[in-house]
Amino acid sequence: MLLRLVSACLGLAPFAAALPQEYPWQDLGLSLPGAGAAPTLSGFGGLHPDAWFQLSVAGAQPGAPLFHVLGLAQASLPLFAGTLVPFPDVVVTGVADGAGRASLLAKWPASAPLGTQLVAQTWVLEAAAPIAVSATNGIVAAAASGPEWGAFPDQWIWGQNCQSEVKIQVHAYNPDFYILRQSICTNFEAPFFYLLMGEQKALLLDTGAGGIQLATTVTSLVAQWAAARSIPTPQLVVVHSHAHGDHVQGDSQFNAIPGVQVAGTSVNAVTNFFGFAPWPTDVVTLDLGGRLVDVLGIPGHQAAHIALYDRRTATLLTGDSLYPGRLYVNGASSQGNWNVFKTSVQRLVDFTNPRPLAWVLGTHIEMSNNPGVNFPIGARVHPNERRLELTRAHLLLLDAELDALPTPALKVTPDFIIYPIN
Ligand SMILES: [Zn+2]
Repeated sequence: MLLRLVSACLGLAPFAAALPQEYPWQDLGLSLPGAGAAPTLSGFGGLHPDAWFQLSVAGAQPGAPLFHVLGLAQASLPLFAGTLVPFPDVVVTGVADGAGRASLLAKWPASAPLGTQLVAQTWVLEAAAPIAVSATNGIVAAAASGPEWGAFPDQWIWGQNCQSEVKIQVHAYNPDFYILRQSICTNFEAPFFYLLMGEQKALLLDTGAGGIQLATTVTSLVAQWAAARSIPTPQLVVVHSHAHGDHVQGDSQFNAIPGVQVAGTSVNAVTNFFGFAPWPTDVVTLDLGGRLVDVLGIPGHQAAHIALYDRRTATLLTGDSLYPGRLYVNGASSQGNWNVFKTSVQRLVDFTNPRPLAWVLGTHIEMSNNPGVNFPIGARVHPNERRLELTRAHLLLLDAELDALPTPALKVTPDFIIYPIN
């Protein structure tokens, strides 16, 4: 099994930065300092059938040769002055980069039984160390059947310093799921984009509020993702949470790239692109290649609004219909959209109830960390901004609050505000 695992090991990942240790990886300690502090090893991504996971070394001597040791159990054998944590079932060589980092990217075999443990540690050859070697901490994870997990940043870019802030923040939630944020310095809407990687297709949700080179960023992410795995670059498919201007401005950039598929934004275009039969009650499933994504029609905020459910991460992408901020129900009275929105939220509840749901992720943040307190409309800085991620509890609360409001009314909750407009 591990031989097949290692045959899929493909060396350095495109994002070589040290990534946060995250569930399901546990730190076993037992590092060995070299000339300086001991290097560290972090695990990233879960051990799920046919899913990519990553081991990331930080703090190694720049340019040093290193050995990633992988085993199916802990050995804890004395080695040099340290401890060899895994049984050395497999050893993969690498070299630390100029910043002392290295990554190993591998695909967990589908044949591995649930509960199979993977123990890892990296040993570094250091010319300057007393015994010419250092070692990271050991880490361990077990193969799991649940959703693939990932990590969120503690703080997104929020306009703290527009001279130095990047225009697009790129965050790998896990090795196959990117979250991008447009800087509030470029547009007060500061929308989020989601990039879901499959082996045949990469799916981008939304293209932003304009003034950023999103296509360049996204196409290079997709190309690097494929190159690190030695697979052909998947086709980029661009869809929209809905048709409002702050979610579609980058479309022309993508339309200009041969081979990129860009969905239209009208109800008709969205219906035909996905094949809703009929819109909006049908649920359409996209196959990205090893990744299934369900598409739901959820009009209310806007007539062509959709939600995406990523089965691999059990994540629901809700666009402007549910996020930590002002949930505008446009035309709530004048166009009868109050009831349309209610019906859509009920559809989301009914769809997710029998399914795992790790996170509910929308396309803006407008709430502060003070419950119920939002930033002024059009604010150009968001100090003390609330986290992006919401949960099933928020979806159920939204549904319950809407049920309690027979006619359009403003309703402030700790993490979102129901906000009918005319
Ligand atoms: Zn909108």
